Amino acid sequence: MYKALYRKYRPNNFDQVVGQDYVIKTLKNAIKNNKISHAYMLFGPRGIGKTTIAKIFARTVNCENPVDGNPCEKCSSCLKSKEISTVDIIEIDAASNNGVDEIREIKNKVNIVPSDLKYKVYIIDEVHMLTSGAFNALLKTLEEPPKHAIFVLATTDPQKVSETIISRCQCYSLKRISVDNIILKLKEVCQKEKIDIEEKVLKQIAISSNGGLRDALSSLDKLASYKQELITIDDYLEINDLISEIEINNLTECILNADIKNFILKINDYYNNGKNLIEIINQLMFYLKDIIVDYYVNNKEILYDIYEYQSLINLLNEKMFDIKKSANPKIYIELTLLEYMNNLIKENRNSSNYIEKSSEIISREIKIDSASTQKNISQEINPTEKEENNVQNEVKIDADLSNKSNIKQIMKIRLNNALAKGNKKEKQQCEEMFKKLNDYVFDQDIGYLVSELLNSKIQVVSDEIIIISYEYDSVVEQNLKELNKLTEILQKYVDINKKIGIITDKDWEQEKQKYIKTIKNNQKYDIIEEPELIECPEENETYEEVNNLADFGDILEIK
Ligand SMILES: [Zn+2]
Repeated sequence: MYKALYRKYRPNNFDQVVGQDYVIKTLKNAIKNNKISHAYMLFGPRGIGKTTIAKIFARTVNCENPVDGNPCEKCSSCLKSKEISTVDIIEIDAASNNGVDEIREIKNKVNIVPSDLKYKVYIIDEVHMLTSGAFNALLKTLEEPPKHAIFVLATTDPQKVSETIISRCQCYSLKRISVDNIILKLKEVCQKEKIDIEEKVLKQIAISSNGGLRDALSSLDKLASYKQELITIDDYLEINDLISEIEINNLTECILNADIKNFILKINDYYNNGKNLIEIINQLMFYLKDIIVDYYVNNKEILYDIYEYQSLINLLNEKMFDIKKSANPKIYIELTLLEYMNNLIKENRNSSNYIEKSSEIISREIKIDSASTQKNISQEINPTEKEENNVQNEVKIDADLSNKSNIKQIMKIRLNNALAKGNKKEKQQCEEMFKKLNDYVFDQDIGYLVSELLNSKIQVVSDEIIIISYEYDSVVEQNLKELNKLTEILQKYVDINKKIGIITDKDWEQEKQKYIKTIKNNQKYDIIEEPELIECPEENETYEEVNNLADFGDILEIK
Protein backbone atom coordinates (compact mmCIF):
# COMPACT_ATOMS: atom_id res chain seq x y z
CA MET A 1 0.00 0.00 0.00
CA TYR A 2 1.24 3.49 -0.84
CA LYS A 3 2.13 5.54 2.18
CA ALA A 4 2.02 9.32 1.89
CA LEU A 5 5.46 10.90 2.08
CA TYR A 6 4.67 12.95 5.14
CA ARG A 7 3.64 9.79 6.99
CA LYS A 8 6.57 7.80 5.73
CA TYR A 9 9.04 10.48 6.80
CA ARG A 10 7.38 11.41 10.06
CA PRO A 11 10.16 11.61 12.66
CA ASN A 12 10.47 8.72 15.11
CA ASN A 13 12.62 10.57 17.58
CA PHE A 14 13.36 14.13 18.63
CA ASP A 15 16.59 14.34 16.65
CA GLN A 16 14.71 13.87 13.39
CA VAL A 17 12.35 16.77 14.04
CA VAL A 18 13.16 19.72 11.78
CA GLY A 19 13.47 23.30 12.98
CA GLN A 20 12.13 23.22 16.55
CA ASP A 21 15.46 23.09 18.34
CA TYR A 22 14.51 25.08 21.42
CA VAL A 23 11.38 23.09 22.26
CA ILE A 24 13.10 19.78 21.55
CA LYS A 25 16.04 20.65 23.76
CA THR A 26 13.76 21.61 26.65
CA LEU A 27 11.64 18.47 26.37
CA LYS A 28 14.69 16.23 26.12
CA ASN A 29 16.20 17.85 29.20
CA ALA A 30 12.97 17.38 31.12
CA ILE A 31 13.08 13.67 30.27
CA LYS A 32 16.78 13.31 31.05
CA ASN A 33 16.41 15.05 34.40
CA ASN A 34 13.16 13.32 35.17
CA LYS A 35 11.32 16.60 35.52
CA ILE A 36 8.16 15.76 33.67
CA SER A 37 5.10 17.87 34.28
CA HIS A 38 1.51 16.76 33.89
CA ALA A 39 0.30 19.10 31.24
CA TYR A 40 1.93 20.59 28.17
CA MET A 41 0.58 22.92 25.57
CA LEU A 42 2.11 23.25 22.11
CA PHE A 43 1.21 26.32 20.06
CA GLY A 44 1.93 26.92 16.42
CA PRO A 45 0.68 26.97 12.82
CA ARG A 46 -0.49 23.82 11.11
CA GLY A 47 1.84 21.17 9.77
CA ILE A 48 4.97 22.15 11.70
CA GLY A 49 5.17 19.10 13.95
CA LYS A 50 3.02 19.65 17.03
CA THR A 51 1.41 16.20 17.12
CA THR A 52 4.62 14.57 15.94
CA ILE A 53 6.45 16.06 18.91
CA ALA A 54 3.59 15.07 21.22
CA LYS A 55 3.76 11.46 20.02
CA ILE A 56 7.54 11.23 20.38
CA PHE A 57 7.23 12.73 23.85
CA ALA A 58 4.56 10.17 24.78
CA ARG A 59 6.83 7.33 23.69
CA THR A 60 9.96 8.70 25.32
CA VAL A 61 8.45 9.30 28.76
CA ASN A 62 7.36 5.67 28.67
CA CYS A 63 10.65 4.26 27.39
CA GLU A 64 12.50 2.17 29.95
CA ASN A 65 15.96 3.25 28.78
CA PRO A 66 15.75 6.55 26.93
CA VAL A 67 18.90 7.29 24.93
CA ASP A 68 19.84 10.98 25.19
CA GLY A 69 16.19 11.94 25.67
CA ASN A 70 15.00 9.78 22.74
CA PRO A 71 13.06 6.49 22.78
CA CYS A 72 15.43 3.48 22.71
CA GLU A 73 13.21 1.57 20.22
CA LYS A 74 14.22 -1.70 21.93
CA CYS A 75 12.45 -1.94 25.27
CA SER A 76 8.99 -3.48 25.56
CA SER A 77 7.39 -0.05 26.09
CA CYS A 78 8.94 1.30 22.90
CA LEU A 79 7.78 -1.73 20.96
CA LYS A 80 4.27 -1.43 22.36
CA SER A 81 4.03 2.27 21.68
CA LYS A 82 5.34 1.96 18.14
CA GLU A 83 2.60 2.94 15.71
CA ILE A 84 0.41 3.67 18.73
CA SER A 85 -0.77 0.12 19.32
CA THR A 86 -1.15 0.63 23.03
CA VAL A 87 -4.29 1.80 24.80
CA ASP A 88 -2.25 4.07 27.04
CA ILE A 89 -1.45 6.69 24.44
CA ILE A 90 -4.74 8.29 23.57
CA GLU A 91 -5.11 10.69 20.66
CA ILE A 92 -8.13 12.97 20.39
CA ASP A 93 -8.69 15.38 17.54
CA ALA A 94 -10.92 18.06 18.97
CA ALA A 95 -11.49 19.42 15.48
CA SER A 96 -13.37 16.29 14.48
CA ASN A 97 -15.02 15.37 17.76
CA ASN A 98 -15.48 18.28 20.05
CA GLY A 99 -18.07 16.60 22.25
CA VAL A 100 -18.17 16.59 25.98
CA ASP A 101 -18.42 12.82 25.86
CA GLU A 102 -14.82 12.18 24.85
CA ILE A 103 -13.53 14.38 27.63
CA ARG A 104 -15.92 12.82 30.12
CA GLU A 105 -14.57 9.47 29.00
CA ILE A 106 -11.08 10.73 29.81
CA LYS A 107 -12.30 11.90 33.18
CA ASN A 108 -13.80 8.51 33.98
CA LYS A 109 -10.80 6.51 32.88
CA VAL A 110 -7.92 8.77 33.78
CA ASN A 111 -7.69 7.38 37.31
CA ILE A 112 -7.36 3.79 36.15
CA VAL A 113 -3.68 2.87 36.07
CA PRO A 114 -2.12 2.36 32.62
CA SER A 115 -2.30 -1.18 31.33
CA ASP A 116 0.89 -1.41 29.22
CA LEU A 117 3.04 1.57 30.04
CA LYS A 118 4.30 3.75 32.87
CA TYR A 119 2.24 6.80 31.85
CA LYS A 120 -1.10 7.31 30.19
CA VAL A 121 -0.56 10.12 27.72
CA TYR A 122 -3.51 12.05 26.34
CA ILE A 123 -2.77 13.96 23.16
CA ILE A 124 -5.54 16.44 22.38
CA ASP A 125 -5.09 18.16 19.05
CA GLU A 126 -6.76 21.49 18.16
CA VAL A 127 -7.82 21.82 21.77
CA HIS A 128 -9.34 25.26 21.10
CA MET A 129 -12.17 23.52 19.21
CA LEU A 130 -13.54 21.88 22.34
CA THR A 131 -17.03 22.99 23.39
CA SER A 132 -17.24 24.95 26.62
CA GLY A 133 -18.74 21.91 28.35
CA ALA A 134 -15.81 19.81 27.26
CA PHE A 135 -13.45 22.56 28.30
CA ASN A 136 -14.82 22.57 31.82
CA ALA A 137 -14.60 18.81 32.06
CA LEU A 138 -11.00 18.95 30.86
CA LEU A 139 -10.20 21.70 33.31
CA LYS A 140 -11.38 19.60 36.24
CA THR A 141 -9.15 16.77 35.06
CA LEU A 142 -6.19 19.08 34.68
CA GLU A 143 -6.69 20.44 38.18
CA GLU A 144 -5.91 17.15 39.83
CA PRO A 145 -4.35 14.75 37.39
CA PRO A 146 -3.28 11.38 38.82
CA LYS A 147 0.48 10.74 38.88
CA HIS A 148 0.35 8.40 35.91
CA ALA A 149 -1.37 10.83 33.53
CA ILE A 150 0.20 13.34 31.17
CA PHE A 151 -1.70 15.70 28.90
CA VAL A 152 -0.19 17.12 25.76
CA LEU A 153 -2.52 19.70 24.26
CA ALA A 154 -1.88 21.23 20.87
CA THR A 155 -3.48 24.15 19.10
CA THR A 156 -3.09 26.40 16.10
CA ASP A 157 -5.09 29.10 17.85
CA PRO A 158 -3.94 29.69 21.44
CA GLN A 159 -6.05 32.86 21.71
CA LYS A 160 -9.15 30.70 21.78
CA VAL A 161 -7.94 28.47 24.61
CA SER A 162 -9.16 29.59 28.01
CA GLU A 163 -6.63 31.26 30.30
CA THR A 164 -7.33 28.78 33.07
CA ILE A 165 -6.32 25.84 30.90
CA ILE A 166 -3.19 27.60 29.67
CA SER A 167 -2.20 28.49 33.22
CA ARG A 168 -2.18 24.80 34.14
CA CYS A 169 0.13 23.83 31.28
CA GLN A 170 3.75 24.22 30.45
CA CYS A 171 3.50 26.09 27.18
CA TYR A 172 5.75 25.96 24.16
CA SER A 173 5.42 27.97 21.03
CA LEU A 174 6.60 26.17 17.90
CA LYS A 175 8.01 28.05 14.97
CA ARG A 176 7.35 27.95 11.29
CA ILE A 177 10.15 25.96 9.72
CA SER A 178 12.56 28.07 7.66
CA VAL A 179 12.63 27.78 3.88
CA ASP A 180 16.22 26.49 4.01
CA ASN A 181 15.36 23.75 6.49
CA ILE A 182 12.38 22.65 4.43
CA ILE A 183 14.54 22.52 1.28
CA LEU A 184 17.09 20.35 3.10
CA LYS A 185 14.42 17.92 4.21
CA LEU A 186 12.84 17.80 0.74
CA LYS A 187 16.24 17.08 -0.80
CA GLU A 188 16.78 14.22 1.61
CA VAL A 189 13.38 12.73 0.77
CA CYS A 190 13.93 13.16 -2.99
CA GLN A 191 17.23 11.33 -2.75
CA LYS A 192 15.74 8.42 -0.83
CA GLU A 193 12.67 8.23 -3.06
CA LYS A 194 14.70 8.79 -6.24
CA ILE A 195 12.57 11.76 -7.24
CA ASP A 196 14.22 13.76 -10.03
CA ILE A 197 13.37 17.42 -9.48
CA GLU A 198 14.74 20.90 -10.26
CA GLU A 199 16.16 22.73 -7.25
CA LYS A 200 14.04 25.75 -8.16
CA VAL A 201 10.91 23.67 -7.61
CA LEU A 202 12.04 22.68 -4.13
CA LYS A 203 12.46 26.34 -3.25
CA GLN A 204 9.03 27.14 -4.61
CA ILE A 205 7.45 24.31 -2.58
CA ALA A 206 9.26 25.45 0.54
CA ILE A 207 8.08 29.03 0.14
CA SER A 208 4.47 28.20 -0.56
CA SER A 209 4.22 25.72 2.29
CA ASN A 210 4.45 28.66 4.65
CA GLY A 211 6.73 27.02 7.18
CA GLY A 212 4.81 23.75 7.35
CA LEU A 213 6.77 20.63 6.51
CA ARG A 214 3.68 18.49 6.18
CA ASP A 215 2.27 20.67 3.40
CA ALA A 216 5.66 20.74 1.69
CA LEU A 217 5.87 16.94 1.66
CA SER A 218 2.29 16.61 0.43
CA SER A 219 3.06 19.01 -2.37
CA LEU A 220 6.14 16.96 -3.32
CA ASP A 221 4.00 13.85 -3.21
CA LYS A 222 1.52 15.33 -5.65
CA LEU A 223 4.27 16.30 -8.09
CA ALA A 224 5.99 12.91 -7.87
CA SER A 225 2.80 11.10 -8.76
CA TYR A 226 2.09 13.57 -11.56
CA LYS A 227 5.37 12.92 -13.37
CA GLN A 228 8.05 10.22 -13.24
CA GLU A 229 10.75 12.09 -15.18
CA LEU A 230 12.49 15.31 -14.19
CA ILE A 231 10.00 17.63 -12.46
CA THR A 232 10.41 21.21 -13.69
CA ILE A 233 9.14 24.56 -12.50
CA ASP A 234 6.56 24.49 -15.31
CA ASP A 235 5.16 21.25 -13.91
CA TYR A 236 4.92 22.91 -10.55
CA LEU A 237 3.12 25.96 -11.94
CA GLU A 238 0.83 23.77 -14.02
CA ILE A 239 -0.24 21.47 -11.22
CA ASN A 240 -0.79 24.36 -8.79
CA ASP A 241 -2.66 26.52 -11.29
CA LEU A 242 -0.05 29.28 -11.08
CA ILE A 243 1.48 31.52 -13.74
CA SER A 244 5.09 31.75 -14.92
CA GLU A 245 7.59 34.27 -13.57
CA ILE A 246 7.55 36.16 -16.88
CA GLU A 247 3.80 36.44 -16.60
CA ILE A 248 4.04 37.64 -12.98
CA ASN A 249 6.46 40.28 -14.17
CA ASN A 250 4.02 41.33 -16.92
CA LEU A 251 1.20 41.51 -14.43
CA THR A 252 3.26 43.68 -12.07
CA GLU A 253 4.14 46.11 -14.85
CA CYS A 254 0.55 46.19 -15.97
CA ILE A 255 -0.59 47.21 -12.46
CA LEU A 256 2.17 49.76 -11.86
CA ASN A 257 1.54 51.29 -15.29
CA ALA A 258 -2.13 51.53 -14.34
CA ASP A 259 -2.95 49.74 -17.58
CA ILE A 260 -6.50 48.90 -16.56
CA LYS A 261 -7.65 47.37 -19.82
CA ASN A 262 -4.82 44.87 -19.98
CA PHE A 263 -5.18 44.07 -16.33
CA ILE A 264 -8.81 43.08 -16.76
CA LEU A 265 -7.98 41.00 -19.83
CA LYS A 266 -5.21 39.21 -17.95
CA ILE A 267 -7.33 38.38 -14.93
CA ASN A 268 -10.08 37.06 -17.21
CA ASP A 269 -7.54 35.00 -19.08
CA TYR A 270 -6.17 33.41 -15.88
CA TYR A 271 -9.67 32.75 -14.66
CA ASN A 272 -10.82 31.14 -17.90
CA ASN A 273 -7.74 28.92 -17.89
CA GLY A 274 -8.58 27.63 -14.44
CA LYS A 275 -5.70 29.39 -12.69
CA ASN A 276 -5.89 29.88 -8.94
CA LEU A 277 -6.30 33.65 -8.54
CA ILE A 278 -5.65 33.67 -4.80
CA GLU A 279 -2.38 31.82 -5.28
CA ILE A 280 -1.46 34.20 -8.10
CA ILE A 281 -1.85 37.14 -5.70
CA ASN A 282 0.39 35.24 -3.30
CA GLN A 283 2.90 34.72 -6.11
CA LEU A 284 2.73 38.43 -6.87
CA MET A 285 3.46 39.31 -3.25
CA PHE A 286 6.55 37.11 -3.16
CA TYR A 287 7.68 38.53 -6.46
CA LEU A 288 7.35 42.09 -5.12
CA LYS A 289 9.09 41.13 -1.90
CA ASP A 290 12.05 39.76 -3.88
CA ILE A 291 12.29 43.00 -5.84
CA ILE A 292 12.28 45.09 -2.66
CA VAL A 293 14.85 42.90 -0.93
CA ASP A 294 17.08 42.97 -4.02
CA TYR A 295 16.82 46.73 -4.14
CA TYR A 296 17.85 47.28 -0.53
CA VAL A 297 20.28 44.42 -0.07
CA ASN A 298 21.90 44.03 -3.49
CA ASN A 299 21.40 47.59 -4.79
CA LYS A 300 19.60 46.18 -7.79
CA GLU A 301 18.08 48.66 -10.23
CA ILE A 302 14.32 48.91 -10.37
CA LEU A 303 11.86 50.21 -12.92
CA TYR A 304 9.52 52.12 -10.63
CA ASP A 305 9.85 54.06 -7.41
CA ILE A 306 10.54 51.66 -4.53
CA TYR A 307 7.54 53.04 -2.62
CA GLU A 308 5.24 52.01 -5.42
CA TYR A 309 6.32 48.39 -4.96
CA GLN A 310 6.01 48.77 -1.22
CA SER A 311 2.57 50.31 -1.31
CA LEU A 312 1.36 47.58 -3.67
CA ILE A 313 2.68 44.79 -1.47
CA ASN A 314 1.20 46.48 1.61
CA LEU A 315 -2.16 46.71 -0.05
CA LEU A 316 -2.13 43.05 -1.09
CA ASN A 317 -0.96 41.99 2.33
CA GLU A 318 -3.74 43.99 3.92
CA LYS A 319 -6.43 42.61 1.63
CA MET A 320 -5.26 38.99 1.44
CA PHE A 321 -7.43 37.84 4.32
CA ASP A 322 -10.54 39.40 2.79
CA ILE A 323 -9.69 38.08 -0.66
CA LYS A 324 -9.49 34.55 0.73
CA LYS A 325 -12.72 34.96 2.66
CA SER A 326 -14.60 36.58 -0.18
CA ALA A 327 -17.41 34.64 -1.88
CA ASN A 328 -16.02 35.78 -5.21
CA PRO A 329 -12.27 36.32 -4.99
CA LYS A 330 -12.04 37.31 -8.66
CA ILE A 331 -14.28 40.35 -8.23
CA TYR A 332 -12.62 41.29 -4.98
CA ILE A 333 -9.16 41.16 -6.55
CA GLU A 334 -10.32 43.17 -9.55
CA LEU A 335 -11.96 45.87 -7.44
CA THR A 336 -9.02 46.17 -5.07
CA LEU A 337 -6.49 46.57 -7.84
CA LEU A 338 -8.69 48.81 -9.97
CA GLU A 339 -8.93 51.21 -7.07
CA TYR A 340 -5.15 51.09 -6.69
CA MET A 341 -4.60 51.83 -10.38
CA ASN A 342 -7.17 54.61 -10.35
CA ASN A 343 -5.30 56.23 -7.48
CA LEU A 344 -2.06 55.97 -9.46
CA ILE A 345 -3.71 57.73 -12.38
CA LYS A 346 -5.09 60.46 -10.11
CA GLU A 347 -1.68 61.01 -8.52
CA ASN A 348 -0.08 61.40 -11.91
CA ARG A 349 -2.70 63.91 -12.96
CA ASN A 350 -2.07 65.97 -9.84
CA SER A 351 1.67 65.92 -10.20
CA SER A 352 1.60 69.01 -12.43
CA ASN A 353 0.28 71.09 -9.51
CA TYR A 354 2.65 69.25 -7.30
CA ILE A 355 5.82 71.26 -7.91
CA GLU A 356 4.08 74.56 -7.27
CA LYS A 357 2.68 73.37 -3.98
CA SER A 358 5.98 71.86 -2.96
CA SER A 359 8.03 74.98 -3.51
CA GLU A 360 5.68 76.80 -1.17
CA ILE A 361 6.37 74.27 1.55
CA ILE A 362 10.08 74.36 0.92
CA SER A 363 10.25 78.11 1.29
CA ARG A 364 8.33 77.84 4.55
CA GLU A 365 10.75 75.20 5.78
CA ILE A 366 13.78 77.24 4.81
CA LYS A 367 12.54 80.13 6.93
CA ILE A 368 12.27 77.92 9.98
CA ASP A 369 15.59 76.29 9.33
CA SER A 370 17.61 79.41 8.68
CA ALA A 371 16.22 80.96 11.84
CA SER A 372 17.59 78.12 13.85
CA THR A 373 20.98 77.66 12.16
CA GLN A 374 22.32 80.77 13.79
CA LYS A 375 22.21 79.17 17.20
CA ASN A 376 24.47 76.43 18.49
CA ILE A 377 23.29 72.84 18.78
CA SER A 378 21.58 73.03 22.16
CA GLN A 379 19.74 76.13 21.09
CA GLU A 380 19.07 74.91 17.64
CA ILE A 381 15.69 73.77 18.78
CA ASN A 382 12.96 76.20 17.87
CA PRO A 383 11.48 77.48 21.07
CA THR A 384 7.85 78.47 20.76
CA GLU A 385 7.38 82.12 21.31
CA LYS A 386 5.85 82.10 24.73
CA GLU A 387 8.60 79.90 26.10
CA GLU A 388 11.45 81.88 24.69
CA ASN A 389 12.16 83.46 28.05
CA ASN A 390 12.08 80.21 29.99
CA VAL A 391 15.16 78.39 31.20
CA GLN A 392 16.88 76.31 28.59
CA ASN A 393 15.89 72.98 30.12
CA GLU A 394 12.29 73.59 29.34
CA VAL A 395 12.74 74.41 25.70
CA LYS A 396 9.94 72.74 23.80
CA ILE A 397 9.64 71.81 20.22
CA ASP A 398 6.46 72.69 18.46
CA ALA A 399 4.71 70.63 15.86
CA ASP A 400 6.04 67.29 17.13
CA LEU A 401 7.02 64.85 14.39
CA SER A 402 5.07 66.88 11.90
CA ASN A 403 7.92 69.30 11.48
CA LYS A 404 10.79 67.86 9.57
CA SER A 405 13.53 70.18 10.76
CA ASN A 406 12.54 69.63 14.37
CA ILE A 407 12.62 65.88 14.13
CA LYS A 408 16.06 66.10 12.53
CA GLN A 409 17.27 68.21 15.42
CA ILE A 410 15.97 65.66 17.88
CA MET A 411 17.89 63.02 15.95
CA LYS A 412 21.04 65.13 16.36
CA ILE A 413 20.48 65.42 20.08
CA ARG A 414 19.87 61.69 20.39
CA LEU A 415 23.03 60.95 18.45
CA ASN A 416 25.00 63.30 20.68
CA ASN A 417 23.59 61.71 23.83
CA ALA A 418 24.08 58.18 22.57
CA LEU A 419 27.73 58.97 21.82
CA ALA A 420 28.13 60.55 25.25
CA LYS A 421 27.03 57.40 27.05
CA GLY A 422 27.25 54.67 24.45
CA ASN A 423 28.97 51.38 25.15
CA LYS A 424 29.86 48.18 23.32
CA LYS A 425 27.99 45.85 25.61
CA GLU A 426 24.67 47.60 25.05
CA LYS A 427 25.31 47.51 21.32
CA GLN A 428 26.06 43.79 21.30
CA GLN A 429 22.96 43.09 23.35
CA CYS A 430 20.81 45.05 20.93
CA GLU A 431 22.31 43.24 17.97
CA GLU A 432 21.46 39.92 19.61
CA MET A 433 17.91 41.06 20.37
CA PHE A 434 17.40 42.37 16.84
CA LYS A 435 17.86 38.81 15.55
CA LYS A 436 14.59 37.89 17.21
CA LEU A 437 12.83 40.31 14.88
CA ASN A 438 13.24 37.73 12.12
CA ASP A 439 10.29 35.88 13.61
CA TYR A 440 7.97 38.74 12.71
CA VAL A 441 9.05 39.52 9.15
CA PHE A 442 5.89 38.02 7.67
CA ASP A 443 3.53 39.40 10.27
CA GLN A 444 0.51 40.98 8.56
CA ASP A 445 0.58 44.16 10.62
CA ILE A 446 4.18 44.85 11.48
CA GLY A 447 6.16 42.81 8.94
CA TYR A 448 7.01 45.81 6.80
CA LEU A 449 8.35 47.83 9.74
CA VAL A 450 10.23 44.85 11.11
CA SER A 451 12.00 44.48 7.75
CA GLU A 452 12.96 48.14 7.92
CA LEU A 453 14.49 47.59 11.35
CA LEU A 454 16.34 44.51 10.13
CA ASN A 455 17.69 46.46 7.17
CA SER A 456 19.12 49.15 9.42
CA LYS A 457 22.64 49.24 10.84
CA ILE A 458 22.98 49.59 14.58
CA GLN A 459 25.69 52.22 15.13
CA VAL A 460 25.80 53.19 18.76
CA VAL A 461 23.72 52.26 21.79
CA SER A 462 23.49 53.74 25.25
CA ASP A 463 21.25 52.74 28.13
CA GLU A 464 18.53 55.05 26.80
CA ILE A 465 19.12 55.46 23.10
CA ILE A 466 19.76 53.32 20.06
CA ILE A 467 21.08 54.94 16.88
CA ILE A 468 20.41 53.16 13.60
CA SER A 469 21.35 54.22 10.11
CA TYR A 470 20.35 53.66 6.49
CA GLU A 471 22.21 54.35 3.29
CA TYR A 472 19.59 56.57 1.66
CA ASP A 473 18.10 59.77 2.91
CA SER A 474 14.70 58.79 1.52
CA VAL A 475 14.67 55.64 3.65
CA VAL A 476 15.61 57.64 6.73
CA GLU A 477 12.75 60.05 6.01
CA GLN A 478 10.29 57.24 5.51
CA ASN A 479 11.24 55.60 8.80
CA LEU A 480 11.22 58.85 10.75
CA LYS A 481 7.54 59.00 9.92
CA GLU A 482 7.10 55.65 11.67
CA LEU A 483 9.30 56.50 14.63
CA ASN A 484 6.64 55.85 17.25
CA LYS A 485 5.65 52.52 15.75
CA LEU A 486 9.27 51.42 15.43
CA THR A 487 9.90 52.30 19.08
CA GLU A 488 6.83 50.32 20.07
CA ILE A 489 7.90 47.27 18.05
CA LEU A 490 11.31 47.20 19.72
CA GLN A 491 9.64 47.45 23.10
CA LYS A 492 6.92 44.94 22.56
CA TYR A 493 8.61 42.26 20.53
CA VAL A 494 12.29 42.25 21.45
CA ASP A 495 12.26 44.04 24.79
CA ILE A 496 14.45 46.98 23.78
CA ASN A 497 13.17 49.97 25.76
CA LYS A 498 15.05 52.81 24.15
CA LYS A 499 14.49 55.94 22.15
CA ILE A 500 15.46 55.50 18.53
CA GLY A 501 17.66 57.83 16.51
CA ILE A 502 17.65 57.41 12.73
CA ILE A 503 20.34 58.94 10.53
CA THR A 504 22.02 58.34 7.18
CA ASP A 505 25.22 56.32 6.88
CA LYS A 506 26.93 59.46 5.65
CA ASP A 507 25.91 61.48 8.71
CA TRP A 508 27.06 58.65 10.91
CA GLU A 509 30.51 58.55 9.32
CA GLN A 510 30.91 62.29 9.81
CA GLU A 511 29.78 62.20 13.42
CA LYS A 512 31.99 59.24 14.14
CA GLN A 513 35.07 61.11 12.91
CA LYS A 514 34.09 64.12 15.01
CA TYR A 515 33.64 61.88 18.02
CA ILE A 516 37.02 60.21 17.59
CA LYS A 517 38.70 63.62 17.38
CA THR A 518 36.94 64.81 20.51
CA ILE A 519 37.96 61.76 22.48
CA LYS A 520 41.56 62.03 21.25
CA ASN A 521 41.64 65.59 22.56
CA ASN A 522 40.53 64.27 25.94
CA GLN A 523 37.27 66.11 25.65
CA LYS A 524 33.87 64.73 26.56
CA TYR A 525 30.42 64.84 25.04
CA ASP A 526 27.86 66.50 27.27
CA ILE A 527 24.32 65.28 27.55
CA ILE A 528 21.85 67.66 25.94
CA GLU A 529 18.38 67.71 27.40
CA GLU A 530 15.96 66.38 24.82
CA PRO A 531 13.07 68.77 24.30
CA GLU A 532 9.58 67.61 25.04
CA LEU A 533 7.43 66.86 22.02
CA ILE A 534 4.10 68.52 21.61
CA GLU A 535 1.42 66.92 19.48
CA CYS A 536 0.28 69.11 16.63
CA PRO A 537 -2.01 66.95 14.50
CA GLU A 538 -3.17 69.58 12.00
CA GLU A 539 0.39 69.92 10.73
CA ASN A 540 0.61 66.26 9.83
CA GLU A 541 -0.59 66.83 6.33
CA THR A 542 2.20 69.26 5.65
CA TYR A 543 4.69 66.72 6.83
CA GLU A 544 3.27 64.10 4.49
CA GLU A 545 3.69 66.45 1.58
CA VAL A 546 7.19 67.41 2.54
CA ASN A 547 8.03 63.78 2.81
CA ASN A 548 6.84 62.98 -0.62
CA LEU A 549 9.61 65.26 -1.75
CA ALA A 550 12.39 62.98 -0.66
CA ASP A 551 14.48 64.23 -3.58
CA PHE A 552 14.42 67.74 -2.22
CA GLY A 553 15.87 66.55 1.07
CA ASP A 554 19.16 68.30 0.48
CA ILE A 555 17.55 71.62 -0.27
CA LEU A 556 15.55 71.45 2.90
CA GLU A 557 18.60 70.94 5.02
CA ILE A 558 20.32 74.27 4.92
CA LYS A 559 23.53 74.33 6.86
ZN1 LIG B 1 12.54 2.22 24.97
